[in-house]
Amino acid sequence: MKPLSLSKILQSQGLGSRKQCEQMIRHSLVCVNGALVTNPNQTFMVDGLSWTIEDELFTYHEKLYVLLHKPAGYECSHQPIHHPSVYSLLPAHFIARGVQCVGRLDQDTTGVLLLTDDGVLNHALTHPKKHVTKTYIVTVKHPLTEDNVQSLLAGVLLHDENEPIAAIEAEIISPLELRLVIAEGKYHQVKRMVAAVGNRVEALHRASFGQVTLSDLAPSGWTLIDKQQLA
Ligand code: URA
Repeated sequence: MKPLSLSKILQSQGLGSRKQCEQMIRHSLVCVNGALVTNPNQTFMVDGLSWTIEDELFTYHEKLYVLLHKPAGYECSHQPIHHPSVYSLLPAHFIARGVQCVGRLDQDTTGVLLLTDDGVLNHALTHPKKHVTKTYIVTVKHPLTEDNVQSLLAGVLLHDENEPIAAIEAEIISPLELRLVIAEGKYHQVKRMVAAVGNRVEALHRASFGQVTLSDLAPSGWTLIDKQQLA
């Protein structure tokens, strides 16, 4: 781990331009590990470093890996059209660092949403060849049948697709609730698969993405996770 100047560290965390960060430090707005620092060129070893700016605590992260419990009524877009953006649920400096959704959920879907500024990992997690599994709890309109489940497991042909798509797992958990595990991330995939077997999605919740689950994270809550949890 190499030493970095404080202004560079703050800039790397999305807190402003280099000049703005220098000004914050010179104006006595920044404490590092509890002590006021007014020299923007003072260097620090970045591992484990934390600082406060006007009483808000920040910790240095090389890359950010964010788990958000997405509530219904939010769009996974920086330019939302009908609903607020999921990005409005996160601190502004995450957005300034370029944090992006790992795939998208529909505005009415709830549950596990990952975001990161690690473009390489984002690409790897969403690449069709990687087959990262996602588990959904699907509430449907009509009572489920064993035939529905068998068709989903056998594979259904969706409009605009050349090959049938099969669920990895499908299990009825109550007459109107299905647990569905899929490995792709196609547009409206679950809604289209359920429609293909003659039913209709009334509510959709993503319970896991790969190994990542919500545990006790409340709707709209977020937490930073380790890269290893996404590996
Ligand atoms: N499948 C859908 O239809 N919608 C989602 O939001 C996610 C998967």
